[in-house]
Amino acid sequence: MMKKLKYLLSISILGLALASCTNNQNNYKYIEPSEIDNYRNYYEIFVRSFYDSDGDGIGDLNGVTKKLDYIKDLGFDGIWLMPVNKAGSYHKYDVKDYYEIDKEYGTLDDMKALINTCKEKNIKLIMDLVINHTSDLNKWFIEATKAKYNNDTTSKYLNYYNFSDKQLDGYKKYTDYYYEARFASDMPDLNLDSEDVRKEIKDIMAYWLNLGISGFRLDAVTSYYTGNPDKNKDFLSFINTEAKKINPNCYIVGEAWTNTAEISKYYESGIDSFFGFGTDEEIVFSMNTESSGYYSGWANKLKTIANGHIEAPFIGNHDTGRAAGILAMKEEKVKFGYGLLSLLSGSTFAYYGDEIGMIGSGVDPNKRIGMLWTEDKLDGYCANPPGTTSTEYVFADVKTQQADQYSILNYYKNANYIRSSYDAIKKGDYKFVDHDSITILTKTYNDEKVIIAINFSKDEQSADLGSKYNVKETLKVSKDSKVKISGNNIKMSGYSIAIIEEVK
Ligand code: CA
Repeated sequence: MMKKLKYLLSISILGLALASCTNNQNNYKYIEPSEIDNYRNYYEIFVRSFYDSDGDGIGDLNGVTKKLDYIKDLGFDGIWLMPVNKAGSYHKYDVKDYYEIDKEYGTLDDMKALINTCKEKNIKLIMDLVINHTSDLNKWFIEATKAKYNNDTTSKYLNYYNFSDKQLDGYKKYTDYYYEARFASDMPDLNLDSEDVRKEIKDIMAYWLNLGISGFRLDAVTSYYTGNPDKNKDFLSFINTEAKKINPNCYIVGEAWTNTAEISKYYESGIDSFFGFGTDEEIVFSMNTESSGYYSGWANKLKTIANGHIEAPFIGNHDTGRAAGILAMKEEKVKFGYGLLSLLSGSTFAYYGDEIGMIGSGVDPNKRIGMLWTEDKLDGYCANPPGTTSTEYVFADVKTQQADQYSILNYYKNANYIRSSYDAIKKGDYKFVDHDSITILTKTYNDEKVIIAINFSKDEQSADLGSKYNVKETLKVSKDSKVKISGNNIKMSGYSIAIIEEVK
């Protein structure tokens, strides 16, 4: 126990030492979560476009390992790694082999090094688990179609996929029969009713959890049994039960891109989290109406849906497009949007490059372009994914933003650090009270209470709070932002956020 304490102490000292590397607005402190705490600030990484460590133009696992200090220094203590298994496409959501690392990204030893370094730094590493479908070049599908061809009815692989003699909805033609393939013809859907397939999935989860990863992000949950939420829920229960037999503390977050009623049902499976699709819209609506209504309603709704589990709000990801684009590419909105996200309970998710305001919309590859480490693109820069049609960068590179204490990057860092300091922010219940144009959000968790003043307007606002407060910490969207309290009166620049405390 002492040893562990010393270890935790040493990593938090390391955290502080790192914190002084970049230019901060204030002396915010990053507070380490306990090792078993699953409420984290997550950072989603598309490995191919993140950091190229060996100069072949393709981001790799060693590049991620190399940048772990950067990630942790920003106050992220969880990573969602998009698929890294051997696959057919550039995005790797079509797995050929669930036990191999794709050669483009490195080796199994590289993966082990990444896992171990994450552990040393108290970063939770979760992997994408893509089990709705495989690649058509997965051994299982090759064996199944071979058996079909040879009229071999004894092959167990025939039962791994859904075959039919008739054209059914969501099925593709293959010689003289059909197979289910909802996403693309080269991504056949697995038959998740098959006991053999379930055994394979158990083995895959056990293999990676035993290597030391902290959990999974489940791809395409609503497509497990298309149009059948009850069966999806049952299958999610199976996943949750089996994964937690191996590591009771592993963290699982599901991608259920659907309505809140359906997500509410899926939480009954016991899965820790489902992504908060729609968070971006509610944040944008609140900014557009310059009032708390949409935001407060959504915050409470997320909590209700999660029903004691962990909410997982986010603004943008590799499918939806980037946060900066959603927030109109206006620097102050991009910052304030993340500030609002960081005040929501649960595990928040940011997408690599969002911290420098990268943009990308239209075809998928545009949303997954190379991380801009330096302006000259000489440091770790990754070639654009095939099919990219636009590679515009609106804001400065990482290096430039690190040196600017009022950059988007340093705003993200400050927001993450403040979030890390209060369990009440990460886990608490909400109470919103509007005082004229200023909203006071009080979050409580066990004995901890934190009071947050938010100005949803783009302009300066002031209000009478009815009693005296001090300003503890502020999140400023620009150099000129100010939050001042005199007597009972608070005056806040547009889009500012402040942690305040009552004067007793
Ligand atoms: Ca490389």
